[in-house]
Formats: sequence, structure tokens, C-alpha cells
Amino acid sequence: FNVPKPQNEPVLNYGPNSPERVTLKAALEQGRSYVEDIPMYIGSNEVRTGKLVEVRPPHDHQHLLANFHEGDASHVHAAIDAALAAKADWENLAWEQRAAIFLKAADLLAGPYRATINAATMLGQSKNAYQAEIDAACEFIDFLRFNVHYMTEIYEQQPPISPKGIWNRVEQRPLEGFVFALTPFNFTAIAGNLPASAAMMGNVVVWKPAYTQVYAANVIMKVLIEAGLPAGVINLIYVDGPVAGDIIFSHPDFAGIHFTGSTGVFQNIWKTIGTNIHKFKTYPRIVGETGGKDFVLAHASANADVVSTALVRGAFEYQGQKCSAASRAYIPASLWPAVKANVQRDIASFKIGPVEDFSNFVNAVISELSFDKLAKYIDAAKNDEGVELVAGGGYDKSKGWFIEPTVLKVDDPHYVTMREELFGPVLTIYVYEDDKFDEILDIVDKTSIYALTGSIISQDRYAIAKATQQLRNAAGNFYINDKPTGAVVGQQPFGGARGSGTNDKAGSMINLLRWVSPRTIKETF
Ligand code: GLU
Repeated sequence: FNVPKPQNEPVLNYGPNSPERVTLKAALEQGRSYVEDIPMYIGSNEVRTGKLVEVRPPHDHQHLLANFHEGDASHVHAAIDAALAAKADWENLAWEQRAAIFLKAADLLAGPYRATINAATMLGQSKNAYQAEIDAACEFIDFLRFNVHYMTEIYEQQPPISPKGIWNRVEQRPLEGFVFALTPFNFTAIAGNLPASAAMMGNVVVWKPAYTQVYAANVIMKVLIEAGLPAGVINLIYVDGPVAGDIIFSHPDFAGIHFTGSTGVFQNIWKTIGTNIHKFKTYPRIVGETGGKDFVLAHASANADVVSTALVRGAFEYQGQKCSAASRAYIPASLWPAVKANVQRDIASFKIGPVEDFSNFVNAVISELSFDKLAKYIDAAKNDEGVELVAGGGYDKSKGWFIEPTVLKVDDPHYVTMREELFGPVLTIYVYEDDKFDEILDIVDKTSIYALTGSIISQDRYAIAKATQQLRNAAGNFYINDKPTGAVVGQQPFGGARGSGTNDKAGSMINLLRWVSPRTIKETF
């Protein structure tokens, strides 16, 4: 049954008049043409509570896109019960039968649902067509196909040694209980992968997406159902976080959490699980990808164009709302004039506006909450004498949550925006004297409270080697002469340690191994 290693799904380019652009435009129009009514999915039921929460495009908050039906504590219990009821049949299904469902889902996303999932991500999350394509289509498809491949490697591992008269074997059991998937708004691929990867390994799942991602989560669920996912294997609920948490993190059958979101929320979850540890049948698996404060460090030997491209693409694609986004940079003084000119030129050329116009590079940030937080940081920076506004600094929420790509230059490498995760299009730069590279390495390492991604840009092999060594623990994904974003499944397994998570690399065998609990069997003849 060995499944051949898949190829990455080719990225379509959506050029003017391309067939994919025509199809995507039609899907966007279709999505905007009616108000979708989105149920929860619990067991075999679509659940409509009548307690409606509105979904509006972040770039067009006057438009009502959908309503979803919010649940309460009773729906959390119902979802857990439905998951546990589905467990025996699901885990006893041969793994290749389970695999087939996810491979079919990948094919549906690559074909008939590609425009639908991309359009939903564009409208619901204000992600432009090119960013939606690499996320909602390609990365999600890759997660499904590559994980099926890693799954076969886990189930077809070499057995342990068996001396004469003894037969030793290892059985890969699903976890005993249910898994809770708590998923973020910023990547549709991650929202789909967190429940899917646990389910693939024979687990049953309760899935709670961010309220700002429900519109595309609904499409994911429909695709999984069409691909043949049996009722109850993944139960999709929209319930207030603390209400769901109180029930799930004290339930005896809670067996694990697959999380992507903020560091603060993850730490609270971990504490709650710790406090309730005596209540669970088994130690729950805690797998989380959390915050980032990702760096670009340029050495004096770097090419200024490579530096500015890494900065601009790393910081501003999807409005900087990637855990991996470049949000702090260290630039040698000799390169600064050229880098500054490039960055200002590029930002001046960016168009800002709604996703429906494909020429807009920058779209809206996810919510008013996020907009207000970013505006506050920007205002504080503008009023600070130690900060130079290099580009941007404007914002406007009359039509959508629009923040200009903003570049700040600071005198102090410990300035607040060099340390705190803003999750928006704000890049802070510290310019250092060329001969202070060693000191800067030390500062970068010591200020990496988060340790998700980072880049060294240099043409000097000694500088590259030094940075690679000294920043060993400062980033789980380390890039040499490239931007720190855009990890590709099967190419750069993704995740970080320190404040950035448990580093159980998304889209890798390491991650899938967290969703099985091996049993060793020794038989003596
Ligand atoms: N994997 C994405 C990247 O490499 C980031 C994922 C995230 O934002 O959580 O850009």
C-alpha cells in the first residue's frame, strides 16, 4: 500500500484573463450574491440554533456575507458525545480506507472546490488571490497528501527485532478519547489540517475554528463530508472559547489538543490542563503553534535588493498576519540607505484595497479589534522621538480594516515593537554599525522570546555560519538569503520552540506521531 511521495500542488498564477482567474471571479461574485446560512456539524446533524453571528468581509464591513449559528455548552457536550460514538467504527477502519477519504478531499480541493475554498478565504479572511492560492488550495492539499504519505510510513515501519521463539510488534493505536482542534483565522490550510491530521490517524475530533474563519471552515467541512468522512469523526462547533474550554479541559475522555493561535491562550490552556490532570484517563497530548516575532538579520555583505525583498514580502504579504511574518529587522548602516530607498519605493507601489480587485497587494486586517490595536501601536510610535516613520503609518476603517504597510526605524533594539507580536503590517528596523555584527547576534538571540522563524541575509559564508550557530535556538525555521515566510509542506517542516510552540512540525511525521499511542506486543511461542 505504500503511497508514493506526493508532489507539491502546482501554484496557479491567476494572471489577467487566465481561466483560473475567470473561475475565481465567478466564485467571488457567487459568494457575495447571497447571505450564507452556516450550521454547526455535530454527528450526522447540521445544527441551527438561531443564535446568529454575522460574517462580513474585513475589507467591506457593510456587506453581510453569512450568518453562522452559535452554540452553547450543550453543543460542546453533544459534539464530544458524537465524537465518542463514532470512535469505535472509525478507529477500526483499515487505515488505507481512512487515507482514501483525505486523498479524495485533496483532489476535490485541487479540482472542483479550488475556486470555492479560495473565494471563501478571500472574502472571509481578506486574503488576496495569490495568497489564498498558496494557502487554502495548495498548502491544504499538500497537508492532506503529504500527511497520508507520512501516515503510511508510520503504519509500515520496520517492526522491532524478534529473537527466536518470540514475536515482537508495535501497534499504532489512536489516542484513547477525543482530540480538540482549536484553529486560527490566518491560514485556511492550518484550520483544515489541525482536525484532519488527528482524524487521519484514527482519532475523533471536536473542532472549534476562530469566529473570523468560520466562512471557509464551512467549505472545508463540506469537502470532507463529500469525500466520505463518516458522521461524528470531525464535529465542527462555534462556541465561546471559555465555555468550550471549561467542558473540554475537564472531560475524562479529553486526549489531546491540536492548536494554532496566540501564546497567551495556549499558556492558559496548558495551565488548565495541568490543574485538571487528575481528571483525564490519559495524559493529553498538547501540540501547539503559537506566536512569533520573526527577524530578518542582514550582514554588511548582503545584497540590498535581496534584503529589501525579504523585508517587504516577509512583512507585508497577507498584511503581516502570518506567525512567520518578518516583524523586526537588523540592518547594517552601510546598507541602510539602499534598503530604505527600495522599501519606500516598493511600499509606494503597493495598492491597498478589497480582494475583489486583483491588483490590490494589501487588503484589510482581520477585525476591528486588530485594527484598533495596530493603530494604537502606530500612534505611539509616531509620537515617540526615538522612532522614525520610514513608510506608511496611515489607517482607515471607513470601508474596511485597512492599515498601511508601515516601517518604523528605532534607536533602541528593545523598543516595544521590536519585542511584542503585533500581527499586522508593521515592520520595525534597527540599524547597527557594520562592525557590531557579533553584538547584534547576541541581541537577536536574547530578544527571541518567541522562536518561530528568522532569516540571515549575507554573502559572507563565515557570517552565515556564525549566525546559523549562534541563533540555533532563536528560530525553528531558519532561512538563509530568503524571507522568513512561506514554508512549503514536504520541503520546510514548520514550527518553533520557546514561546512559539511545541515545535511538532506541521506537515511532518513528527506531528502525526503525536496522534498515535503505540502499544508494544511481545508474544512468546
Ligand atoms: N507556515 C506559514 C509560513 O511559513 C505560517 C503559518 C502561520 O502563520 O501559522 O509562512
